[in-house]
Amino acid sequence: MMNTFGTPSRVFVRGEGTQLWDADGRQYTDFLAGLAVNALGHAHPAVLAAITAQLSMLGHVSNFFATPAQVALAERLVGFATENAPGTPARVFFTNSGTEANECAFKVTRLTGRTRIVAMEGSFHGRTLGAVAITANPKYREPFEPLPGDIVFTPYGDADALAAAVDETTAAVVLEPIQGENGVVDPGDEFLRAARRIATANGALLWIDEVQTGMGRCGGWTASAASGVTADLVTFAKGLGNGFPIGACVATGEASGLLQPGHHGSTYAGNPVAAAAGLAVIGVIERDGLLRRASELGDALASRIAALGNPRVQAVRGRGLLRGIVLADESAPAVVKALLDSGWVANAPRPHVIRVAPPLIVSPDEIERFVAALDATLAATSDAS
Ligand SMILES: *Cc1c(COP(=O)(O)O)cnc(C)c1O
Repeated sequence: MMNTFGTPSRVFVRGEGTQLWDADGRQYTDFLAGLAVNALGHAHPAVLAAITAQLSMLGHVSNFFATPAQVALAERLVGFATENAPGTPARVFFTNSGTEANECAFKVTRLTGRTRIVAMEGSFHGRTLGAVAITANPKYREPFEPLPGDIVFTPYGDADALAAAVDETTAAVVLEPIQGENGVVDPGDEFLRAARRIATANGALLWIDEVQTGMGRCGGWTASAASGVTADLVTFAKGLGNGFPIGACVATGEASGLLQPGHHGSTYAGNPVAAAAGLAVIGVIERDGLLRRASELGDALASRIAALGNPRVQAVRGRGLLRGIVLADESAPAVVKALLDSGWVANAPRPHVIRVAPPLIVSPDEIERFVAALDATLAATSDAS
């Protein structure tokens, strides 16, 4: 395989619920969930049954044709994207990944007749060329220039700077409700409301990337709904298929009519097996009350870590079960490695931030045990590491 992620530190062979086993037979508790993907943990019986049943019935037909699973999932996603404005017309384009969902949204913005996009400093939107163009990190961008142009970056969370950057040539404002890859940075609901006002005042689209934050991760179907805002473009992916590859771009209101035949397409995207996986995930989240559970357990996790009073922990930020543990030093990669050696999977999106995103089915007991393991690991790893 190409060396895009460095040498993998473990080979995993089996998963069940929150548990993972590596090729050496060692067991781990998964507090990363495949990067906010495995919302229902590993090998969830409802997802397994839905995928198996759909694959036995009909696995793929191309997008020249529709399937019942695809249409049913589109209806659910429309509901999530228009939660604050029920009945708003909306349409879905299915994809196989988050970056493709953002590519679709990007192409929709070009059909407004404007080209300028205002994106956020600290942003991450994926690795295809359009998504990289609106991603701030120079390490991800510079080797691949020239990228699609007419993009400006403005400080995340700064409504005045956003107002100054957006004008009547702006096609869209694109933002994440919480910047996961930037270390779980939450700009607050008021910033999303300001972004909505500023976009509307200038006739620009508001494009919210819910790829990491959506599908229950932050305690709602979208993280942005809590702000009361309705976006023109909402992108989903990570939690949607519980690991079965699927993403979606939902366009609401006038934006929903911009893509016309011939403008965009994908051979696999939204195939009935992926759609069945998505419907099963949504069904279990509803049946088991996992939105509320994500909020409650996420708050418990944050307050238990704060209660440790560990001087190396500066803050716990984020919402629901997407949390960044902010360290006073740059030892997050070393702490994450030590956690892995003691049977806990997490990651370090920034040198001073440990990210945890356990499956939404995580138990209160596992939260307690993670907090104890974190405390012990912080004690065992020096802040000089
Ligand atoms: C992961 C991520 C993406 C990209 O999704 P892929 O499935 O890896 O292409 C886009 N936006 C955000 C906010 C993400 O976290």
